[in-house]
Amino acid sequence: MLLAGCSGPAGDRESASPAPAVGRIASADPGSVNTFWLRTPRGLVVVDAQRSLSDARRALAAIRGTGDPVAAILITHGHPDHVGGVGVLHDAYPAAPIHSSEATAAWMRADPLHFYEITRKLPGADYAPELTYPDHTFAPGATLDVGGVRLETAEFGPGETETATAYYEPRSGALFAGDLVANRATPALLEGHVCGWLTDLDRLRTRFPHARTLYPGHGAPGDAADLIERQRTYLEDFRRLVRPTVRPDSPAGRKVSPDEQRSIIADLGRAYPGYPSVASLPTLMQENVKSVARELLEEDPAELPPACRDV
Ligand SMILES: [Zn+2]
Repeated sequence: MLLAGCSGPAGDRESASPAPAVGRIASADPGSVNTFWLRTPRGLVVVDAQRSLSDARRALAAIRGTGDPVAAILITHGHPDHVGGVGVLHDAYPAAPIHSSEATAAWMRADPLHFYEITRKLPGADYAPELTYPDHTFAPGATLDVGGVRLETAEFGPGETETATAYYEPRSGALFAGDLVANRATPALLEGHVCGWLTDLDRLRTRFPHARTLYPGHGAPGDAADLIERQRTYLEDFRRLVRPTVRPDSPAGRKVSPDEQRSIIADLGRAYPGYPSVASLPTLMQENVKSVARELLEEDPAELPPACRDV
């Protein structure tokens, strides 16, 4: 299903507070990548821009279908699945500023892990040959005035990625969290900062304690506290499953054996069935296991922040 509707999710309807007028379009797999738009007095504030050009064009058609102009485009982080279509939106709405944090804009220009290059080479990628970059950047923790609405921001990372921004609209309690939270999706843990991600989730909760509906990078929006908690549990479970396989006394020593890897993936599949992968990498789960194992081996237990002690 491509168009998930232009009204808010169930969580909004259940609340007594003013429902944020948020529309959403999600890509087909991989990973149900979200583009949201927040209705403001001066038009739509669009959050993230899809991976492929064709998905970006679908998002554009849905946005045009609202009949409202676009007041601004916001980027949560630089991963290819959230910024590939910025140019499609910018071509349609050239006057709309493209906002990101300074750190995210710098990360996009540097592409330190060559993610855009890798994505362009994937079969059937349909990826922008050149990216369109943010033209308005802000410092960590800045407040933005966009479309006549004030948005609070907070900067995170390294965690799910090196640098990430959450956008919060305090009147409605709408929290746009990017990939700090995925709802029922298998995340990419390739950047090796699950402990950092757990710390980010604690900060996200305490920084925006009144958040009501969380709009995630992947999957359906939902209750903010619940989605943050479920993301935390997924990451903790992952670490708890990998940890015994890298103990010196495990059968294959500190290496994860193919059997151990299969068993971890099967356990996660049972606990989190049917979670689509956020990346079009067929070996994502195997790579995730390797990455978590590497992180656990490199950690000093005495130095761990509270969010990842004992997990
Ligand atoms: Zn993503």
